[in-house]
Amino acid sequence: MIIAMKQGAAPEAVRNFAAGLEKQGVKIHLSEGASQTVLGLVGDTTGIDEKALKAHHLVEKVIRVQEPYKRANRLFHPEDTRIDIRGGDSGVRHIGAGYLGIIAGPCSVETREQIIGIAQDVKQAGAGFLRGGAFKPRTSPYSFQGLGCEGLDLLMEAKQETGLPIVTELMAIHQLEVFDEVDIIQVGARNMQNFTLLKELGHCRKPILLKRGYAATITELLMAAEYIMAGGNEDIILCERGIRTFDSYTRNTLDLSSIPALKKLSHLPVIVDPSHATGISWMVPAMTKAAIAAGADGVMLEVHNDPENARCDGEQSITPAAFAALMEALRKYASIEGKNIGPAV
Ligand code: PEP
Ligand code: MN
Repeated sequence: MIIAMKQGAAPEAVRNFAAGLEKQGVKIHLSEGASQTVLGLVGDTTGIDEKALKAHHLVEKVIRVQEPYKRANRLFHPEDTRIDIRGGDSGVRHIGAGYLGIIAGPCSVETREQIIGIAQDVKQAGAGFLRGGAFKPRTSPYSFQGLGCEGLDLLMEAKQETGLPIVTELMAIHQLEVFDEVDIIQVGARNMQNFTLLKELGHCRKPILLKRGYAATITELLMAAEYIMAGGNEDIILCERGIRTFDSYTRNTLDLSSIPALKKLSHLPVIVDPSHATGISWMVPAMTKAAIAAGADGVMLEVHNDPENARCDGEQSITPAAFAALMEALRKYASIEGKNIGPAV
């Protein structure tokens, strides 16, 4: 961090100011020019409040050189993070560091037949994880809100049946009580900056799939991950799921450039959700391939056995047959990228 002091600031006052900063654990290099003094701060500046510095009467300008996040930062953790997940069988699945995580399943759990049938189909096609919402964040209070605890029980049955680890969304802290058997906790786009929730998940010992808020910058997503990591939970999977732009042809705009950006800035695995990003099922295969080609560590896809009659997000859900065809193509993409996609079944 670089701090330019105001012209004419008294040298004594500047030295006192610098001494105060040193008490916060950074080293200061002080350069006295003819009319202005500049302070160079080295060390860990994540705890230094840039806005408070700007408000100080001696300060002219503050330039942050280092990113405001530490634990999520690749600078302090150069190698890729690999998340290991055990499901209902003895197998351990990985996401990140050369392993692609393929998460598939319906937007929401609807019935036993639906979730178990889809789980068997996606497993057969080669998915590594089953998704399905039990608690659904819907825009309208009159839309289907998910089956709640009953939905979680059905997900557990599907896990027993197939061995696939379960990914499902947590909307409120109190729901943690019933998430014991969930393998990956999803934090949805709408909750990406629910800081109370993020702090609580920092104390939890399960991997977190953190979705990008639809108006969140890349730095804000990484700061949300930092919130969880600061509490001690370092198993975070970042998920690009499209952002709001002026175009309304697609539900959101898939920000493919966030993949290389996040991978450059952070060691955490990055996956993509082309279903919510596009909102259109026929676009999902193309954007899935694009995501893997851009370096994503996996995808999360909405798959439904009867999209026309789905209780949620049918228009963006692909069928099990389309998913199986896509998996065929992804095996080729994975081999080109030198990534492991799990065994062909
Ligand atoms: C979902 O994955 O079911 C979901 C609601 O996604 P998002 O939070 O990205 O809208
Ligand atoms: Mn959905």
